[in-house]
Amino acid sequence: MKTITKHYIDGTYVESHGREVMDIVNPTNAKAIARVTLADEEDARRAIAAAKRAFASFGLTTKRERTEILHRLHEVVSARVGDLTSAMVEEYGGVVQFAGPIVQAGASVFQSTEKALQDLPLSRSWGNTTVTMEPVGVAGLITPWNANALFLCAKLASAVAAGCTVVMKPSELSALQTQVWLECLHEADLPQGLCNVVIGRGDVVGAELVRNPDVAKISFTGSVAVGKSIMRDGAATMKRVTLELGGKSPNILLDDADLGKAIPNALIIAFLNSGQACAAGTRLLVPKRRLDEVKRAIVDTMPAFPVGDPSNPKTAVGPMVNAKQYERVQSYIRKGIAEGAEILIGGEGHPPGLNTGYFVKPTVFVNVTNDMAIAREEIFGPVLCVISYESDEDAIQIANDTDFGLHAFVSGTDMQRARRVASQILAGRVAINGMLDDQQAPFGGFKHSGIGREFGVYGIEAFLEPRAILE
Ligand code: NAD
Repeated sequence: MKTITKHYIDGTYVESHGREVMDIVNPTNAKAIARVTLADEEDARRAIAAAKRAFASFGLTTKRERTEILHRLHEVVSARVGDLTSAMVEEYGGVVQFAGPIVQAGASVFQSTEKALQDLPLSRSWGNTTVTMEPVGVAGLITPWNANALFLCAKLASAVAAGCTVVMKPSELSALQTQVWLECLHEADLPQGLCNVVIGRGDVVGAELVRNPDVAKISFTGSVAVGKSIMRDGAATMKRVTLELGGKSPNILLDDADLGKAIPNALIIAFLNSGQACAAGTRLLVPKRRLDEVKRAIVDTMPAFPVGDPSNPKTAVGPMVNAKQYERVQSYIRKGIAEGAEILIGGEGHPPGLNTGYFVKPTVFVNVTNDMAIAREEIFGPVLCVISYESDEDAIQIANDTDFGLHAFVSGTDMQRARRVASQILAGRVAINGMLDDQQAPFGGFKHSGIGREFGVYGIEAFLEPRAILE
């Protein structure tokens, strides 16, 4: 059993002032694997004060100095990809086939941000006017448990590129990953106070970051409910906010789609991170005339998505993060049945032979209508809803009939038609024919999926304020 009692403040490990102790439980076997002493408001205030002191000089650094830091961060995180991946697998049951690439993406983001910083002019002049892009100040970076390493890296990279100093509050469920992360930061030998990390509860440490007048900006990834509270509570100190929130992404299968490719892709997209992914494509929109064919293809393809031990590279779906998330998924499966949807695959309870951890059965519902709770609310588990449609226009209407707008997917062979459909979807990202990524492309949501964007120049701009000098 590991014991974690320290935070990282002002370039050094410090004992927690907060005294609350929490167990970290391995969701694969429901056994406690670590004990963490959580921070309190005083720890958060000390971290904010350190970041404020550091901002006085770091805010004045040049692109070159910031680039050097991004470079160092890339090196230290790249060297620990294996350890970060293992911690993700152990701590929240992230399947290694997802956790490995996601941590690797975290390491790469320092390089892609370096490139974005080169491409972003920080000063523009015309006539007698000069506009410079100034760092907003101390930023509070708050992340969820579901891909903590990537979010920590992406937020820190953009903040550093902009010249901000930071206080990071990773999810309290990510304490083991955070330990490796702290070692990376220490190894990078950053300017003192540039990056402070406090492990604590959202309603304690997160809330202090949101209300503290010395924090200028909050970059948050997490649930819609907490995102709304940050916006509301942050208004008192006029916080700048970036909110990366939930989703219920549609995946439109056009009637010319090649099911041999589109169905495996649809299941990859739906069961991404065991379904615990904001971008997961959990509404599969299928042309009515191909529905039977699609159902058969799903049943035939499911054996390629085994559920089980997350450390096994063949496993596609691991356990849910904790008992609460297990119960949440079960309650939605029951709700779907009660609403009249039909189970094609899966259903309630544990998969056979997996009774000890928080494993659920990957579940596919058919006969779903877009007004059902299972089609409207984010379940955050491996539950896919198949919804049929009549025409492309109908599909677009159903895709957009949601409170969310984080991500969408379109599958089809006629690329012109797929692009035409993609261009009508109200979502921050639309991927055609598969789960695609580009670290220079913006990531973020329309509607309740959030405010602002991360990655590339868009991510850096979110930490900048323009200042115009006229003479
Ligand atoms: P959550 O909102 O419960 O917690 C996220 C973070 O916010 C945690 O660090 C938590 O401690 C903190 N927090 C909680 N209450 C707070 C408060 N009052 N003030 C400040 N901080 C507070 O979310 P979660 O369960 O950790 O993560 C799952 C959610 O995150 C899902 O809704 C998912 O869609 C979303 N998510 C979004 C993205 C995206 O990029 N859009 C990515 C991943 C996850």
